Amino acid sequence: MTQVKRNPSVVIVGAGMTGILMTIKLRQAGITDIIVLEKKDAVGGTWRENTYPGAACDVPAHMYTYSFEANPNWSRFFARGPEIKQYFEHVADKYDVKRDIRFNEEVTDANYNKGKWTVKSSKNNTYVADFIVCATGILHHPKFPDIPGIENFKGAKFHTAQWDHKVNISNATRVGVIGTGSTAAQAIPELIKTGAKVSVFQRTPQWLMHLPDFKFSITMRKLMTRFPVITKMHRNAGKFFLEHIFTKAVTGHFIQKHLLNFLCRANLILSVKDKVLRDKLRPNYQVGCKRVIINTSFYKGIQQPNAELVTDGIERITETGIITKDGKHHDVDVLVFSTGFNAFNFMRPMNLIGRNNLHIDTAWQHKIKAYRSMMLAGYPNFFLMLGPNTPIGNFSVIAMSEVQTDYVIKMINKWRDDEFDEFEAKQEAIDEFNAYVKEGLKGTSWVGGCQSWYLDADGDPILWPYTWQRWVDEMQEPQMEHIDTASF
Ligand code: NAP
Repeated sequence: MTQVKRNPSVVIVGAGMTGILMTIKLRQAGITDIIVLEKKDAVGGTWRENTYPGAACDVPAHMYTYSFEANPNWSRFFARGPEIKQYFEHVADKYDVKRDIRFNEEVTDANYNKGKWTVKSSKNNTYVADFIVCATGILHHPKFPDIPGIENFKGAKFHTAQWDHKVNISNATRVGVIGTGSTAAQAIPELIKTGAKVSVFQRTPQWLMHLPDFKFSITMRKLMTRFPVITKMHRNAGKFFLEHIFTKAVTGHFIQKHLLNFLCRANLILSVKDKVLRDKLRPNYQVGCKRVIINTSFYKGIQQPNAELVTDGIERITETGIITKDGKHHDVDVLVFSTGFNAFNFMRPMNLIGRNNLHIDTAWQHKIKAYRSMMLAGYPNFFLMLGPNTPIGNFSVIAMSEVQTDYVIKMINKWRDDEFDEFEAKQEAIDEFNAYVKEGLKGTSWVGGCQSWYLDADGDPILWPYTWQRWVDEMQEPQMEHIDTASF
């Protein structure tokens, strides 16, 4: 007699790339009791939030796509933000994901007790579920700089992740941009194109790599629609580059590392004519230590007559601009903070409370770690998507989420087959995993003498230091010897 599987209830937090994926995959596995709680009014996560001019993805578009939902119509090699947002909207509509989403409902609390999670939301609703999946993304809490006088500035000021589109920027505007990371490298050239006088305040230069960024012709897109194999070839080429060149370069593989080093250094020399400017833009740490910026427009933009690179260091912000350490006052009308994100919040500020009233802030007070990036001791029937030590260099996070989603479904299926009622990672498995990752991190570029959002309070990068394939292989099957289970 075939046993009827249990149908668990699952609360997913967040309707971004991972939340959409998880909903689709759970349903395909036969799990239908799903509620997705989304704090904003639309799907798309990072691509809904980041509307700054020039927002784009530096992973080739055909690679930055769900494996089961190819898009032959990507308009360019590196898709722009609005097109990516549209893609996620399209997938959510096609798979009718929105019927399970409660929009404008932020999870405030999640409490575990005897096989059930009680989840409370900002609308004072309470949901009880067998599993909770935090699909809350990595970089979603904008970080503002701790610069004296910041509150005194009288002009318009905003973070790139909260772009104020009501502020009109024209050739009469003086714009100050603080930061020169991946976001700034995309936004600054667009600001310069408006004719505004753009002062870029750089604390640390970054390595930039030039990869061709071209439009796909209508004919090519028609061909890709007619022959899906061409789309697949594009995807595979992107995957090959990221897997065998890029990811290996930053994780210590000799040839790839030197190739990437050469490409970034050559890019700077070939792109920036003026030696003084070139020297200001040349980092003094190894390539790949901070995330390598794949970009074709920043060097061009910063050499325009209406652009200025300021490297003297910021002393303080005034009512009308910025004073640098050399005593100079830089007048600006609009101040843009491209100063990154609080990367270690993960699912917080949610009050996540596990077994024995264990608050997540207590569980993570000494170090933020998770078993296989996804599971925590004291938090049964809980999954954190894209948790610590998930990101692999510049690889596609969609591919990472797909692997983790399969893992989640394998664990939930064991529950459905009555193998257990609750599971959680063993503390010693978390510690062993962390030690294993830490060993690999020694040879990577991320510990190459720079400060970056990759590093935790101990200076340990929260990335995966081995190959993509090793990660996929190790995530194939849950190793149950690392996991405690109980039945009621
Ligand atoms: P980021 O890489 O963390 O860069 C923040 C910038 O702000 C740095 O230049 C930093 O300087 C500067 N900064 C911070 N505090 C400062 C202060 N008090 N004074 C002066 N400068 C200060 O942030 P991001 O550019 O938003 O990028 C974050 C991540 O988002 C990327 O690494 C990437 O993973 C992702 N992203 C991806 C894409 C894509 O195309 N896929 C696009 C955008 C972003 P220091 O270097 O000196 O700290």
